[in-house]
Amino acid sequence: MLTYQETVWDESPHLGSYTLANFRKIPQIQEMPEEKKFEMEVVGNVLPFKANNYVIEQLIDWGDIPNDPMFVLTFPQKGMLKPHHYAKMASVLESGGDRKEISEAANEIRLKLNPHPAGQMELNVPQLKDGTKLYGMQHKYKETCLFFPSQSQTCHAYCSFCFRWPQFVGMDEMKFAMKEGEQLVQYVQEHPEISDILFTGGDPMIMSARMFGAYVDTLLEAKIPNLRTIRIGTKSLSYWPYKFLTDKDADEMLDIFDRITQSGLQVAIMAHFNHINEMTTPALKDAIQAVRRTGAQIRTQSPLLAHINDDAEMWSRMWHLQVQMGCIPYYMFVVRDTGAQHYFGVPLVRAHNIFRTAYMKTSGLGRTVRGPSMSATPGKVMIEGTPTINGQRVMQLRFLQGRNPDWVQRPFFAKYDEDAIWLDDLKPVFEDSFFFDQEMKEKYSLS
Ligand SMILES: *Cc1c(COP(=O)(O)O)cnc(C)c1O
Ligand code: SF4
Repeated sequence: MLTYQETVWDESPHLGSYTLANFRKIPQIQEMPEEKKFEMEVVGNVLPFKANNYVIEQLIDWGDIPNDPMFVLTFPQKGMLKPHHYAKMASVLESGGDRKEISEAANEIRLKLNPHPAGQMELNVPQLKDGTKLYGMQHKYKETCLFFPSQSQTCHAYCSFCFRWPQFVGMDEMKFAMKEGEQLVQYVQEHPEISDILFTGGDPMIMSARMFGAYVDTLLEAKIPNLRTIRIGTKSLSYWPYKFLTDKDADEMLDIFDRITQSGLQVAIMAHFNHINEMTTPALKDAIQAVRRTGAQIRTQSPLLAHINDDAEMWSRMWHLQVQMGCIPYYMFVVRDTGAQHYFGVPLVRAHNIFRTAYMKTSGLGRTVRGPSMSATPGKVMIEGTPTINGQRVMQLRFLQGRNPDWVQRPFFAKYDEDAIWLDDLKPVFEDSFFFDQEMKEKYSLS
């Protein structure tokens, strides 16, 4: 098993940020052939790219390029665009297209990549009782509402597979964002069924402690009786652990977690780790300890990704290490039907096999993890297995979360299909339609 180095990090970290505009200045990139750099430029003009020194110097193994998982996770890869989309952008760049031509070609391609999967824009926008629409929130599952502070619509670095990519390329004018913490308070007060607020983005831990603290204080001062947990969906532990160590407001951020815990609410960090290589630096180990000392709990989640982590052995080692470090494995997701799904997607049957193989090798303390789970329009759907029933091989599925809570925990069956990569690919077996199809059509029809 891999354990973290028992050394104390002493170099003072420096945050150099890289985007498409300056990625050629990265020393390790300079050494690459021009052809590779051009490939990154082609893809990077369509899908977002951002990296920082920590990722480049401490997470990527430059001796293992192009296969290193952290490299694939952060740098644009040729295969992320379908060949005809790649050819289109390549020809615009080769013919010396200006900014306008590049951005037109980019937007045309982006619109073909299903920028708003699972009806996020249309179906989940909540309203106050006075009719005000809250574009900075989503409320899909009864107990938990998502909050997108307008200051957190970016991340420390971008994951190449990210399903929130349209927010980072300026496609979503609203960016789901809203400034007013008061509206959040009002909404949660109007909905006594909500127990959890999930701060998300981008990455809410891109916010300064001052800004995040302002939202938190508004919530705490309102003393909302139904509110029990403040969740924070973040990749900062992985991409910028110094957020909790040496940033000038690191202690102030930890104090905020403390304050929430002291007030009787739980802080649940929904930490995003895609690969065990993100968990091996001394800074990460120290950051986890600093966060846990505040009373916050850390749960971990990641999608299963071809070219990055489609390896059961790695998952079981990662879950072991997470448990050892006091984190709680929570979700393995299936790559969403947006952006570069054709590149990162793993078929559902194979995803289940990888999950099961990794789960089998995990102690009960790590078996808090659930998956593989699809965040689809009707809900979070898990693949439970591929049993043979009356001589017929089928896929057995179950809702972990449902748009209608009554759907949760009801097993249902689909035709066995080794190529299916999303719920939409599955066909009912034993019945003419899935049990939720009719209600989905009646209540949540998008047209
Ligand atoms: C995953 C998710 C949640 C949280 O679900 P849990 O199973 O409680 O972690 C809430 N809202 C949306 C839209 C989600 O996709
Ligand atoms: S940290 Fe999350 S929101 Fe940010 S790029 Fe990665 S997957 Fe997307």
